[in-house]
Amino acid sequence: MSAKVLQGAEVAQSIERKVLSEVECLKGLGVTPTLAILRIGEKYSDLLFERRVAESAARVGINVRHIALSDDVSQREVILTVQNLNEDLSIHGILMCRPLPEHIDEYKVRNMIDPAKDTDGITDVSLARMFVGSQGGYTPCTAQACMEILDHYSYDLKGKNIIVVGRSLAVGRPVAMLLLERSATVTIAHSQTENLIDLVRQAEIVVTSVGSPHMFGPEYFVPGQTVIDVGTNFVTEKKLIGDVDFDAVQETVAAITPVPGGVGTVTSSTLVKHVMESVKKQFGNMEISQNEEGVCNITLNAKK
Ligand code: NAP
Repeated sequence: MSAKVLQGAEVAQSIERKVLSEVECLKGLGVTPTLAILRIGEKYSDLLFERRVAESAARVGINVRHIALSDDVSQREVILTVQNLNEDLSIHGILMCRPLPEHIDEYKVRNMIDPAKDTDGITDVSLARMFVGSQGGYTPCTAQACMEILDHYSYDLKGKNIIVVGRSLAVGRPVAMLLLERSATVTIAHSQTENLIDLVRQAEIVVTSVGSPHMFGPEYFVPGQTVIDVGTNFVTEKKLIGDVDFDAVQETVAAITPVPGGVGTVTSSTLVKHVMESVKKQFGNMEISQNEEGVCNITLNAKK
């Protein structure tokens, strides 16, 4: 039997529906949530991601301010740009396309972002908050997208044996932390892991975040497993494939996210959700609800 395909679009639509209704309610207050996207250079993957985020923002009524700097921009200019965005009260979230060019100290620049506007969860402050399980910060969007998919398809994660292959700060570690927070039993694997095939075959849910095209063939899987494929690998300039050989494992696993159309599709809607959360925090944990007739109920300074 073929695997159930966990469609990112379905998850993204559900997230965006809720954000749209909140954005509509905000209009009554004269506030338009705004995301700044900072891109350096013209890398195809950055342009693609920027376009996807802009489309997702447009669907929910969030403004996007595009800031494109040239490849040879100085570090000082990038820092000044980030500082200006931090101080600009009309900006609620900042997305910085990464990796940055080599002549720029990415660690320094990403930590210049005001954690209150770090809607992609890339500062050390955001990562630390996630690590201690605090609700105050933003989780990295790709990691959060994996959780949104599992939640949308009603996976009970408690006690589940889950392996995350990849330990980067951008994806692998945050996913593992979020899964642990939900009481899953998590194994983190990486390039030095021994017996990877055996470990993957023992897991109930497998998250692959390696960046190696079709590395995971049918030999890695057993019937009944769920696979969340985070890998986005451009094998030609415009052809994108995952870490998992989707077609080859279809008949073995129980469920799998496609690439494209899986985690990446949900990542941009997670980001716009975070921008909306940033606005709510700016108003002291504003709570917004809309009844069936479309009447908005907004509570400012809601206690948490
Ligand atoms: P990364 O920083 O290069 O990390 C890759 C990880 O994979 C590392 O931890 C590495 O181990 C591990 N690894 C490499 N070869 C391995 C092997 N043979 N066996 C086991 N583990 C191995 O990459 P990343 O930023 O985490 O991204 C991973 C993938 O996710 C990429 O394809 C990227 O494009 C994609 N991605 C997708 C989204 C999305 O929205 N869908 C967002 C971000 C990234 P070591 O630590 O030992 O080197």
